[in-house]
Amino acid sequence: GDEDEFGGRRAMGGASGRVPLGIKRKRLRVLVTGGAGFVGSHLVDRLMERGDSVIVVDNFFTGRKDNVVHHLGNPRFELIRHDVVEPILLEVDQIYHLACPASPVHYKFNPVKTIKTNVVGTLNMLGLAKRVGARFLLTSTSEVYGDPLQHPQVETYWGNVNPIGVRSCYDEGKRTAETLTMDYHRGAGIEVRIARIFNTYGPRMCIDDGRVVSNFVAQALRREPLTVYGDGKQTRSFQFVSDLVEGLMRLMEGDHVGPFNLGNPGEFTMLELAQVVQEVIDPNAKIEFRPNTEDDPHKRKPDISKAQQLLGWEPVVSLRNGLPLMVTDFKQRIFGNQREDSA
Ligand code: NAD
Ligand code: UDP
Ligand code: UDP
Repeated sequence: GDEDEFGGRRAMGGASGRVPLGIKRKRLRVLVTGGAGFVGSHLVDRLMERGDSVIVVDNFFTGRKDNVVHHLGNPRFELIRHDVVEPILLEVDQIYHLACPASPVHYKFNPVKTIKTNVVGTLNMLGLAKRVGARFLLTSTSEVYGDPLQHPQVETYWGNVNPIGVRSCYDEGKRTAETLTMDYHRGAGIEVRIARIFNTYGPRMCIDDGRVVSNFVAQALRREPLTVYGDGKQTRSFQFVSDLVEGLMRLMEGDHVGPFNLGNPGEFTMLELAQVVQEVIDPNAKIEFRPNTEDDPHKRKPDISKAQQLLGWEPVVSLRNGLPLMVTDFKQRIFGNQREDSA
């Protein structure tokens, strides 16, 4: 029965498993909600490489089958089109709960749906975790700090969020998701983990999702001006996706609930980011100023001491090293198949 299919023990080793050669590790059944998205698909790659059985649940709102197409046909991989707002019955050992649009353009598109995804969707996945005794990891966000009055942001900071603004469907949705996660932990004894993710970039980001890194890279490649919102002096800290995935897996496998900030402390103004994009892609790229969006946080930078100490984790890819890795993928998708709507 189950023991044969999933309980088979295999030796893990090498860079992928991060478990010393010779140590045996149980093959896990891992659910990744939002696994056809940008971050989720990179996480799925690592879990598959490690030898786990992976189930992806995704409604393809912002995700694409293309992102996981290389696993289709592998008996350890399963892709289910499903909306987490509806209940689902599955048998798994771990749940990485990522399902939720991450780009402001997408999460503002249908704000009520964003709240439902964060609240009802998270409730369903916690209910599932409770029923089968799975460990549950929530991908929360640096946006829980809102327009922060503390800088850099430490996990103990409670944040400065507008509860009635256009970003609140996401900010408050994630804050509620954190609350639900802790209440299931305290009330039902579920094993939980909470990650607060800071701005992340890399291959497979939606080309036209409106986030600043994907916008600038696509604009520079298309020889369009880089659109800087507001005065461009607001800051963000940009993390390469492989660093994030390593952090998420360490968090899941470790002994600490969190919340943990997962981000790269390197802080850039949007004008500095535009300069880096010019250096990496096109020194002649022009800059065009546009009015900023409502409630845009002025600054953001993670304090990652907690993750460094308790997870032994810190990012290793700098913005200047990470951007070129994304450019290759964007070039292929923008020019490769002679169509620009492949996102
Ligand atoms: P993404 O939009 O690429 O991926 C989200 C995935 O969830 C997509 O595949 C989408 O189709 C799926 N999804 C959305 N709503 C769903 C629903 N109701 N049911 C099932 N599937 C649904 O975004 P991402 O950048 O990969 O982000 C993944 C997670 O990380 C999100 O929870 C996001 O809030 C969090 N996060 C990301 C960042 C970042 O910079 N990328 C920063 C902070 C937090
Ligand atoms: N749920 C789910 N899959 C499961 C178990 C539960 O989708 O395997 C959903 C369930 O439909 C409910 C939510 O998770 O809406 C919370 O479940 P829980 O058992 O905690 O609460 P209850 O069903 O008692 O309200
Ligand atoms: N931004 C910009 N030009 C763009 C897109 C975004 O200057 O084309 C700015 C935006 O105003 C914000 C920052 O870049 O200050 C980060 O925006 P993004 O949507 O990537 O993520 P956020 O951190 O706001 O969720």
